[in-house]
Amino acid sequence: MPDSTHLDEKALHLEVLNKFAEALLQSSSLVDILWLVAHNAIANLGFLDCVIYLKDEHDAHLVQKAAYGPKNPEAYSIKDPIIIPIGKGIVGSVAAHARPERVHDTRKDPRYILDDEMRLSELAVPIMFEGECIGVIDSEHPEVGFYTADHQEILTTIASMAAVKIADALHTEQLQSTIIELRTTQHQLEIRTEELERAKVAAEAASLAKSAFLATMSHEIRTPMNAVIGMSTLLNHMDLNDDASEAVQIIRESGQHLLGLISEVLDLAAIESGEVELSLNWVDLRKLLNSVVRLTGSSKIESRVPIHLEIEPQVPSYARMDETRVRQIVVNLIGNAVKFTKEGKITVRAHLRTDNDQDARLAIEVADTGIGISPQQMEKIFQPFSQADSSHAREYGGSGLGLSIAKKLAERMQGDLRATSQLGVGSSFEFSLPITVSTPAKSASDSSPTTKESIAPVDQGSKILLVEDDIYNQRVALSLLKFAGYEADVAENGSEAIEAVQKNAYKLVLMDLQLPLVDGFEATRRIRALPEAHQPIIIALTANVQPSDRTASLEAGMDEFLPKPLDFEELQNTIAKLVRTPEA
Ligand code: ADP
Repeated sequence: MPDSTHLDEKALHLEVLNKFAEALLQSSSLVDILWLVAHNAIANLGFLDCVIYLKDEHDAHLVQKAAYGPKNPEAYSIKDPIIIPIGKGIVGSVAAHARPERVHDTRKDPRYILDDEMRLSELAVPIMFEGECIGVIDSEHPEVGFYTADHQEILTTIASMAAVKIADALHTEQLQSTIIELRTTQHQLEIRTEELERAKVAAEAASLAKSAFLATMSHEIRTPMNAVIGMSTLLNHMDLNDDASEAVQIIRESGQHLLGLISEVLDLAAIESGEVELSLNWVDLRKLLNSVVRLTGSSKIESRVPIHLEIEPQVPSYARMDETRVRQIVVNLIGNAVKFTKEGKITVRAHLRTDNDQDARLAIEVADTGIGISPQQMEKIFQPFSQADSSHAREYGGSGLGLSIAKKLAERMQGDLRATSQLGVGSSFEFSLPITVSTPAKSASDSSPTTKESIAPVDQGSKILLVEDDIYNQRVALSLLKFAGYEADVAENGSEAIEAVQKNAYKLVLMDLQLPLVDGFEATRRIRALPEAHQPIIIALTANVQPSDRTASLEAGMDEFLPKPLDFEELQNTIAKLVRTPEA
């Protein structure tokens, strides 16, 4: 039966709920909401204390988040907050079972957990959101049986009013922490990107330093080698006794061997550091293969094994490719075949593969009937410095670099190099690469600029100008030229060369590239700017043998490019080719 105190209490509860609802509408942060429950709602109900718990993120514990009474000495602080495992104590049971509990006498309830001080009755209600308990509101009182059914009802109402706002705030907090996490990750990514960028810049600098080192090494080694090989070539043509002749021969061959080795090591290093630029031109395939076969065959006079060249009709006349590099690979394969084949024959076969309609692949196969390669040996032969058999270096020479360079070059051209072989029967190496094919008409206009059609014939005995600053190299070149029947003047730098060309009508200038004062490129450009009457043929003569040096020489206006050490025959042939005499 409702007495007047009961009615007063109901009215009080209604008023508390009203004020609470109003205040709740205006709060949105989790902290504000929880403390509003403690300070605004529960304090006004006439309870002596309360603690509000929320489940932690793992749903394993209840954590004290707000309080009123002795646990809340000031502002938003909780005195000695404790953590209660879900299921433990009265508060833990309420969370576990999602049901309110009103304990009449805590002394008789073994679950009772002593927090700040012993109190004799307790009321705990779950904060429910969408059927799940997200926290607990707990109040204790020193008197036995203090809490009524009304108390339980009002606390449950407060809990359910706060629940939506709490869940909402929790959700927002989660979103915010996700955003912060994302921002941190993004920041870390930015730092990492910067680090990578710096690493890339450093790597590029290192790579530049490496290529500069390679170019310098190459130049520095080639210059003295030029003297060694050039002079021994000359000596070889002189009247020497047998012993001296043999010694000179050994010096020359060792010099050439060393030079070959240096070139290969530098080449491999350049390919590995991505330094190799391809220079694409329209190439007459039949001409290329014929010349490679002729040259590789003739250079091995001791080899009796015939080389057959088969070019299938589908192979186009012209294809766009890097002629020098393709030649290098094929020369290497034929060279190996010649080296490792004592009898039988060597077949060089060019054919076209059209595996898909998109890109045609040119395949050049070099097959021999030589010593063959076992499957175990096959695993090693494409690795640098490795040969199928350690006796091969002694027996056949070689450094074991040729195939690794050839394979890397082939891959650089999006091509491939594969081998099949049978020990004692023979081997077949197939180099294939995608090519752009064309009709000869198109290619004629686009062909490589290395051959000049309009070269004026010169009189025999016409003078040559040698532009060279190194005294030993001057002597080597002059001796070689004299031996070939030519006379030459010397200019020691680019400006001397320009002056000399204006004074004398030289038909040919042999131009070193690295020169004091005015270098070979600049001298050539300035000579090319002179009137027509002063235009000689200019051949670059240099220890700078990177493909880019060749291109730069031709672009500066030179007609040919000869690497140092000078090869006597090559020098003679080039001069003969460029400086045609009417009678000879
Ligand atoms: P090199 O010939 O300078 O030693 P390569 O890289 O060109 O280096 O070849 C590596 C090794 O592969 C050779 O030493 C040889 O053992 C083996 N090889 C290459 N070509 C052939 C071939 N046509 N027949 C048999 N063995 C070969």
